[in-house]
Order: sequence, then C-alpha cells, then structure tokens
Amino acid sequence: MLSAYHLHYTYPEAGQLHSVLHDVSLELKHGEQVALVGSSGSGKSTLLNLLGGLDQPAAGQIFLNGQELTALKEPALTVLRRQQIGFIYQQFNLIPTLTVAENIVLPLSLLSIPAAQQQERLAFWLNAIHLPTRARVFPDQLSGGEQQRVAIARALIHQPALVLADEPTGNLDAKTGQLILDLLFNLAKQLQQTLLVVTHSKTVAERAERILVLQEGVLQTHPNDLAW
Ligand code: ADP
Ligand code: MG
Repeated sequence: MLSAYHLHYTYPEAGQLHSVLHDVSLELKHGEQVALVGSSGSGKSTLLNLLGGLDQPAAGQIFLNGQELTALKEPALTVLRRQQIGFIYQQFNLIPTLTVAENIVLPLSLLSIPAAQQQERLAFWLNAIHLPTRARVFPDQLSGGEQQRVAIARALIHQPALVLADEPTGNLDAKTGQLILDLLFNLAKQLQQTLLVVTHSKTVAERAERILVLQEGVLQTHPNDLAW
C-alpha cells in the first residue's frame, strides 16, 4: 500500500555531513496500524513528511497505492496528497479563524465536494468524535483533547488511504491521550485506513500491530532488541 525504498535525506542548512535519514526502506500493508518510535532527533518527523509528500528525499523512491509519489511534480503531488493522505500533528494545527465545522470539512472543500455532501459527512464526523453540539465554536474554545478530536475528524473525513500522525498525544495528559488514541485506532480500523503513528509512548506503540524503530536516521531491522 505504501512502500519506500532507500530513502536518504539531508537538511540543506545542516550541510552534507549531517545525514538525517540513511537508506530507509519500509512497507506498510493496506489497513495496517504501525507505530514509529525512536529518540528525539532520530528523524521520525522528517520521515513522515517524506512519506506524506510534504518534502522530497535526496534519493530513494516512495510508492502509494502503486503510484510513485517521488516522481510526481506539482500540482499532481498536492492533488494526490489531498485525496489520499490525512495528517495529525502534536500541536493539533487547527485553523484558529475557522469554526470546528469549517476545520473538519476543509479537506472536502479542497476536493470540491458538493456542499450537501459535506454537511452530511460533517454530521457523521461530529458524532464520531463525540462533539455533536460544538460545530460552531472556534478551536480556542475547546480543550486540547477536543481539539485533537477535531483534528482526527479533519484527517479522516475525505477517507484517505493513509493516515500519518506525528506524536498525536504528545500535548495531552495520559488519560486524554489514551481516549484520543482509542478513537484514532478504532476509526482508522473501521475505515480500513493504513495508520502510521509516531510516538514516544509505550502505550501507543503497544496498540499498534507492528513497531518500527528509527535510530539516528537508520531503521532498525531487529526493533525488539532495542530499548527505546
Ligand atoms: P524527530 O521527529 O525524530 O525528533 P526530526 O525528523 O524532527 O526528528 O529531526 C531529525 C534531525 O534533523 C535532527 O537532528 C534535527 O535537528 C534535524 N532537523 C529537523 N528539522 C530541521 C530543519 N528544518 N533544518 C535543519 N535540520 C533539521
Ligand atoms: Mg518529531
């Protein structure tokens, strides 16, 4: 479903000596739920950005549902990203000037889905994230956990094949984080979406079907041997 081969990445500012990702290859199966762990600075966010088409590797190839992401140019890359990928961030990244409802339907607007259909799906998603009465409030009127629920709805509403979450519970207390995680894993499973979650939490990693460990830009082949 998602495959990456021999990815290399260096931040231009960091110079040639500082390689952030080194020869990273991975494959995710359709509907699989996978955790990506590794210490701070090991390259997890960088890898997620490459897999999500937000950045291009210096070398290597990425395929999503048979299409080579790394061969696409704009605007085709943006179109593919909008159709097939959902992102969830640690800082929620909701748009503060848009209401909850407007934030959630944003991916549908970008895909020019008719308004009636947008409202139908919105109603479903407001219920799915247990916020049926909060459609018209703004993000700053919500708690962190509620904001992350909105962000989950926004990431899933266009039924992307791939959901990428970068430390989605990193800004939440343990109990709220657990609830958010249950919601994310359950919804992604129901919708048969492939889920890749970056995390520092053992609880999150244990929810996943498989764990990938990144260490200084290198994906470990025997992750079970490593303490992380
Ligand atoms: P992680 O998400 O695992 O904490 P990152 O992917 O954010 O790691 O970062 C990996 C490495 O790349 C770190 O050494 C970090 O300092 C460096 N890095 C991250 N973003 C940038 C950037 N914009 N410019 C230069 N170096 C960066
Ligand atoms: Mg990170």
